[in-house]
Amino acid sequence: MTETNRPTCEVCHQVFHGNSCVGNFVINGERFERIVHGGNGETADDPCPDCGVLEGQIHHWNCDNETCPSCRGQALGCDCESFELVSEVPVV
Ligand SMILES: [Zn+2]
Ligand SMILES: [Zn+2]
Ligand SMILES: [Zn+2]
Repeated sequence: MTETNRPTCEVCHQVFHGNSCVGNFVINGERFERIVHGGNGETADDPCPDCGVLEGQIHHWNCDNETCPSCRGQALGCDCESFELVSEVPVV
């Protein structure tokens, strides 16, 4: 077994390793910027224990520590309806 055990983000397809995720949320038809590590007022001296992002970087999708920008709950478990993540893929 030589391949890495680190999971890959299904949104940005990067391995969880100190790189920022991409995309925005659309919640109930309204567009929100994703909340970065440390952007919720918590200390972010250390990388995210879950997805490895550094302060100021966007958590990878499926990270428990991402905050919902609408209700300020946990993005993965919040009660917002019509919760959608849209990737910012530039249209050529
Ligand atoms: Zn990602
Ligand atoms: Zn994270
Ligand atoms: Zn929410």
